[in-house]
Amino acid sequence: MTAPEIVVSRCPSCAARYLPRDGPCPKCGATAAEPCPLPARGTVLAATELASPVAGWTAPHPLVLVEMAQSVRVLCVGSRPAPAPGTEVEVARDGDGYRCSAVGAAGPGVRGEGEFPAVGAAGRPFEPPR
Ligand SMILES: [Zn+2]
Repeated sequence: MTAPEIVVSRCPSCAARYLPRDGPCPKCGATAAEPCPLPARGTVLAATELASPVAGWTAPHPLVLVEMAQSVRVLCVGSRPAPAPGTEVEVARDGDGYRCSAVGAAGPGVRGEGEFPAVGAAGRPFEPPR
């Protein structure tokens, strides 16, 4: 079994990596892009909950900013309670967006209360990703 991956875009002109989107490279403006698979694991940079999200979203709506390999950052829908910064998570594509779950959990798409260690409960200080 291969390790889970997410596919981002890589600019052949400047080597920038970014989430697939319409339009040119956000760094240099080149119009070409090629697929670039990355390991699906990342580190939580920050997490929050929207108490009054837009219509159609459940409230509270947990959001998690995850740093992946090669400095790609992904804003994901998470689960409650919010994961602590520094927590390792697995990211998966979910429709037009992304979801994350704690490593070792049932996997993205199957989430429940208490899946992440609560903020401050990790027992270790935040270490920025390398
Ligand atoms: Zn570029």
